[in-house]
Formats: sequence, structure tokens, C-alpha cells
Amino acid sequence: MSTDRLVARMRPFGTTVFAEMSALAVRTGAVNLGQGFPDTDGPREMLGAAVTALRGGANQYPPGPGIPALRAAIAEHQKRFWGLDSDPDGEVLVTAGATEAVAATILALCEPGDEVICFEPYYDSYAASIALAGAVRRPVTLRPGGPGGRYSFDPEELRAAAGPRTRLVLLNSPHNPTGKVFTPEELGWVADLCRERDLVAVTDEVYEHLVFTDASGPHVPLATLPGMRERTIRISSAGKTFSCTGWKVGWATGPAPLLSAVLRVKQFLTFVNAAPLQPAVAVALGLPDGYFDVFTSTMQARRDQLVAGLTDAGFGVLPSEGTYFVTADIRPLGGSDGLDFCRELPGRAGVVAVPTQVFYDHQDAGRHLVRFAFCKREEVIAEAVTRLRKLG
Ligand SMILES: *Cc1c(COP(=O)(O)O)cnc(C)c1O
Repeated sequence: MSTDRLVARMRPFGTTVFAEMSALAVRTGAVNLGQGFPDTDGPREMLGAAVTALRGGANQYPPGPGIPALRAAIAEHQKRFWGLDSDPDGEVLVTAGATEAVAATILALCEPGDEVICFEPYYDSYAASIALAGAVRRPVTLRPGGPGGRYSFDPEELRAAAGPRTRLVLLNSPHNPTGKVFTPEELGWVADLCRERDLVAVTDEVYEHLVFTDASGPHVPLATLPGMRERTIRISSAGKTFSCTGWKVGWATGPAPLLSAVLRVKQFLTFVNAAPLQPAVAVALGLPDGYFDVFTSTMQARRDQLVAGLTDAGFGVLPSEGTYFVTADIRPLGGSDGLDFCRELPGRAGVVAVPTQVFYDHQDAGRHLVRFAFCKREEVIAEAVTRLRKLG
């Protein structure tokens, strides 16, 4: 379709690679380990609460910042797991997924020409939201080969990315697509920069409950570092933690002056969303620790299953410390370009993966890397692994 009328700032953004690869999976009957959505439902209690709310008349506009029960549950949840205090009135905002929270934050805090530091490979919506705001992204590259073979970055590169127009640092940990968990040292570098340059940090923590036991450390919200609470917008979502990516219930927490700026924009993007799902997410956030423990350990077992299969198939598998994802180097299999490799993979092996080069500005840094999702049923991963062994 012609995009002649599309505004210039959105022209670089074509159809997402997820759409292309998912369509390829449907067309070829391949096992889809491309897009990161679970193939099982979330907790029974949550689904029941949604049905009750839907039948109980919770079907009109909820309050702008979210229903009080959900705001209270968000505050209690982050206090229970991360020791972070937020006032449900004024420091908690419910959004249409983490995606809207990120977009509204960037639109609220960046003038055209302002700069946003982000780590590449980056989640695809970041680049689009930065462009919509007329802002400019300044990527810092995550490279494999740090301690334990993990992805890491050069603190000098981070410092060099900050200039007079820098407003925000956008940090996603645990990180999609690499499966990296930022270490306390790395978080310290980010916090130092934010404090010294008076920058606001925006943290995407949608995988906060997916840090595996062999990660470099537990999940640490950047907002818990000294001096960071007052300059951090912390974002998360129900989608990944409760296997309901189609619900699009997310949230932002942060100091009232920053959060009210975000609300100002958010109210004109979606105004509100998901009235009957909000009470259900409140129930889910209040589930006992056992739910979260089983969720994490189940996902870690799926990771182990997929990593073993990819290793057998001959990939150069990189460490995945968390999230739904593992990345792999295709060069041991004779590949050099991940996009070509992923387009051919359904034909060669009946599996779909996603090339990560599309999430870099410096595409060469990720040309040979592809991402596989393991948030799938055991038998689905087993089938994918059987198919991938043909490659070796
Ligand atoms: C899935 C994902 C999101 C989107 O979350 P929604 O709640 O569906 O909007 C945001 N950031 C990252 C890193 C993700 O993987």
C-alpha cells in the first residue's frame, strides 16, 4: 500500500518484523517461536475475576488514573517485591499496556529535538514513540562477550551518548530481546549519569518476575538506587507476568510531578481502557508468592529445554538470564545475516524466529543474531527442537 500521505517521521517504520514472521509461520505451518506471547492462560483467579466484573456491570469508563483497587494493588505489589513505596493516589497510573505508558511518558517529557538514550537492540515501540515525539534516539550498544559471555556495554559509550539535549534514559531490564538482566554495577552507571545530568529515567520492567536463578543477580528496579526514586518513571504490565498479553493493562509509577505530566498526555491517547480487566489484574497482583515462584521456575525450565535444543542444533547460544527470550549466533551454522536466515528457517526446519538486527541502529552489531521465544508449552518447544536438529 502506498504511504505517500504518511508523515515523514513515521516513514522509516515499516510493518513490524513480528507481523512478517508470524504471517510466515501461518503460511508455512512452522512452529512460531518468533513473537513473544504465551500459549497458555494466566491464573484461574484472575480470569474468574474478569468474568465476574464483565457480568457485574464494570463496562463503562473507569476513572482516568485507573480504578482505586488496581492502583492500590500495584502499589502493594511493588512494595512486597521491591520495597518501593508509591501513593496509589497520584503516584500510580494505569495505562493501555506498557506500550502506552512508554509512549505517553516520552510524549510528555520530550520537546521536538530532545534526545533519549536507549540501549540497542531496543524494543521496537521505543523507536516509534521517540519519533512520534519528534525526539531523537541515542542508542548505546549491548554487546555479547561481557562477564560470563553476557551482553554488556561500555560505560564510556553511555557517557558519550549524553549531550545538552538529552532528557531521558530508557532502560529495559530484564531486557528484550537479549534476555539480559542489568547488573548492579551497570545500573549504578545509569543512575550516576541521570543524577549528574539531571535526566529522567524511564524503566520498562515488564519482565520483573522473569529473572532466572543463574542470572547475574536478582531484579533491581533502578528507582531503588539512591536519588533515583524522584527521577524515575517505572513501567510494568500484566501481559507478561500473568500470560494475558491481549489485555493491555499496564501501569506507570513515579513521583507525582512526573506522573501527572504523563497523565496529561495519556488522557488524550486512550483516556482509559479495559474496565472489567482492571479488577482482575488487581486480583492477580495480590496472588501469593507461590504463583510468582512457579511462574519463574516454569519459564526457566522452558528456557533450559530450548537452550539445550538450540545448542544441539549447532547455534552459538548466548546466556539468557530472564524474559521470554534467548538469542543465538547463526554463524556456527554457516549463516551471516539473521534476516535472511529467519526468512529461510521455516522452509529449512519448520520453525520461526526473529532477527534482532532490526532492533539496532548499528545493525552490524546484531546482524548474526536471532531471537527465539520459549514462553510456549513444553510439547511445542519439544517439537521445535526436534525440527531444529535437522539444521546440524
Ligand atoms: C511486551 C513488551 C512490552 C509491551 O507491553 P504491553 O503491556 O503489551 O504494552 C513493552 N516492553 C517490552 C520490553 C516488552 O517485551
